[in-house]
Amino acid sequence: MTKSTLGVLLLLLGCVSAFSRQPPRNPAGQAAAGRNPAGTLRQIIPGHYVYSSATYNSGIIVTSEGVIVLDALNSEAVARAQREAMASTIRQPVRILVSSTFHNNYSKGNVAYADVLKIGHENYRTDLLELMQREKVPAEEQKARLPNQTFRDRITLHLGGKDIQILYMGRAHTRGDSIIVVPEDRIAYLSELYFADQFLFITDGYGLDWLRALDAVEALGADIFVPGHGPIPPDPRETRQGLRRFRQMLVDVRDAVQKEIARGATEDQAVAAIRWPQYEKLQGYDTQRETAVRRLFQQLTGKLQ
Ligand SMILES: [Zn+2]
Repeated sequence: MTKSTLGVLLLLLGCVSAFSRQPPRNPAGQAAAGRNPAGTLRQIIPGHYVYSSATYNSGIIVTSEGVIVLDALNSEAVARAQREAMASTIRQPVRILVSSTFHNNYSKGNVAYADVLKIGHENYRTDLLELMQREKVPAEEQKARLPNQTFRDRITLHLGGKDIQILYMGRAHTRGDSIIVVPEDRIAYLSELYFADQFLFITDGYGLDWLRALDAVEALGADIFVPGHGPIPPDPRETRQGLRRFRQMLVDVRDAVQKEIARGATEDQAVAAIRWPQYEKLQGYDTQRETAVRRLFQQLTGKLQ
């Protein structure tokens, strides 16, 4: 851990000195920010903010030595709008971007953070690179989106008198998700480990591991769990109940698939048989129901290792 932390700080110093004279200013991006009035910046508790655009949430941790952002969201325009909102409200420089999911809706905005240190799990880097190569993303954009530093288990940052933990909880929504925990403020930013009031998106996910990861998250002792998707209640402590509902959804998905397997159903028969009426009104249910059955079926039968 000490080695990782030192590495981060050395890189950080390098980045800050290299870029501090060139604050990001992009006329096109600013124009785009003006066309994106939907994004909102909300203080959750002192020192902790969330920028929300569409149903996506980006976490923002403010210290006296700068800002750490979790997830740059789905486009350069959205990310630049977020940076403008942070610059006018928070008035602290962004030091680090931590990225959890390699999916485009959480990594396309990375290009708006060319001036900061970018950190992601080593599997995140591998999967983001593979995705961008498959989609023939221009080399320059690939470079701008990839992390400068990867980690395997955890990194602890010591910034502005705060310990900020970047943690890998094992496979979940993808095999390279990161979460951020600030123990002294009892807050955990979960990115796409937690879909609030939405059906889970599990195209690249591992349901059984995801459940274990959520149990480990609950044991962290936080009071507030910031979702990567969906609304945050006026009292942010109510996110604990929301997280429990989301965990229960994963349990219900697993149990229904397990029951079909026990009956001797094939994967296609399980897809045909399984419905979760209690979740059918949730966003994502129609598009992800089949995927959820298949991913759980494959994992429970050992086809998906
Ligand atoms: Zn995702």
